[in-house]
This record gives sequence, structure tokens and C-alpha cells, in this order.
Amino acid sequence: MANSSPRAVGVMGGTFNPIHYGHLVTAEEALVAFDLEQVVFVPAGHPWQKDQDEVAPAEDRYLMTVIATATNDKFHVSRIEIDRPGPTYTIDTLRGLKETLGGDAELWFISGADGILNIITWKDPEAVLREARFIAATRPGYDLDRLEKELPSGFEDRVSILEIPALAISSTDIRRRVRERRPLRYLVPEGVARYIEKRGLYGGGAPST
Ligand code: NAP
Repeated sequence: MANSSPRAVGVMGGTFNPIHYGHLVTAEEALVAFDLEQVVFVPAGHPWQKDQDEVAPAEDRYLMTVIATATNDKFHVSRIEIDRPGPTYTIDTLRGLKETLGGDAELWFISGADGILNIITWKDPEAVLREARFIAATRPGYDLDRLEKELPSGFEDRVSILEIPALAISSTDIRRRVRERRPLRYLVPEGVARYIEKRGLYGGGAPST
């Protein structure tokens, strides 16, 4: 008999500027804790709320995400936001992914708690909260009261908090380390560190040819 229960699929949304071990640990923890079938990483194409000078080209962030996830069979990377022109809106991504994955896919959008709790500033926040459940990743000690204050009322149960100690690693710190020529070892996968160096990203020097 065909199995009619929904397939829980993680959608790991982020700028990944660059991807680091905190993101990878988050995705793995969510996979296990919420019994997800797979996690699809979705690097943001054009993060319209960010200072563009700080953001590496979309294709570079996509390739670093592919490199970082290559050894995990349950991790996949989508180009859906990279290939879509114009600003990145999560509502368009969730609808696009549902079309690709099929009607039985139940989406779990995983991202940083700070970002998710600003959902009220996103395009169509209530539609976004209807299209997916949310996993807000945070380091331990996060103020959970913010959940009730900042989510539209009636949607509080659509967001779960996942504590991830490894989120002490941050993309901001990694970019600073590159500028200051400090090591990235054990913060990002080796291939990602090599890619940053080779392409001269984040003010780390001229790209090698
Ligand atoms: P952000 O505001 O740059 O990140 C906020 C915090 O969350 C940072 O500490 C960040 O750490 C962390 N974080 C980001 N992605 C994470 C992930 N997947 N797992 C764990 N921690 C994560 O967030 P962002 O990267 O720009 O955006 C996050 C997602 O929200 C993206 O998919 C973006 O497209 C979506 N978004 C949508 C709208 C909209 O639809 N209008 C608006 C804003 C954001 P790091 O800096 O170390 O990553």
C-alpha cells in the first residue's frame, strides 16, 4: 500500500556568506530532531535587506555550499534563489520547492532565530508561516519570550527553537578572519577555506588564476 503520510523536508535558508560548521551542525541536528527525509540548502540569491558590499557573488556562495555539503547523502543544494532574478523572497522559494518536491512534501524552513523572528518584515509573513513550519536555530540561552512578542498571533506553534552550541561560529567572524589573515581551520570545511583563498573572497587577496 502506498504511504500517504507527508514527507518532511528541511529547507536550510541562509546567505551562507560563507557557509561554516555552525550551519552544517544545525542542518544535521534538525534532520535528526525533526525526522527529516533530507535537507535542501538554499543559498539566498539577492538578499535585499543586506549591505551588498559585504556579500560574495551568488555563484561563489552556491559553490561553497556544494563543496561543504558534498559528503552528506541527505544534504542537497538548490539553485532556486540563485537563478531567480530580482530580490529573494522566501515565499517564492517555498512555493517553487513545493512544486519541485511534490504535493506530499511538508516543508520545514531552518534558519537563524534572529532572522526568523524578523519574519514580520518579510514579504507575506502569514503566507510564509502557512507554507512551512520553521526551525529557528540559536545558541543556548536565547530569550524565548521574543517568540511570542514578534510572531503574528496564532502562528506561535509554527516555529520551533533548536539550540545549537556550534552557532558560536559566525560568517561575520569568518569574513573578519579572512581580512586579518587569521586561520579558518576547524571553522569551515577545508574545501571552503581553499575556495575562499583561490577566489580572493572577503578581502583576502587577489584571486589566483
Ligand atoms: P541573517 O539575518 O544574515 O542571519 C541572522 C542570524 O542567523 C545570523 O547569526 C546568521 O549567522 C544565522 N543564520 C543564517 N542562516 C542560518 C542557517 N541556515 N542556520 C543557522 N543559522 C543561520 O539571515 P540571512 O542569512 O540573511 O537569511 C536567512 C534566511 O531568511 C534566508 O533564507 C533569507 O532568504 C530569508 N529571508 C527572507 C526574507 C524575505 O522573504 N523577505 C527577508 C530576510 C531573510 P551567519 O551570519 O553565521 O550565517
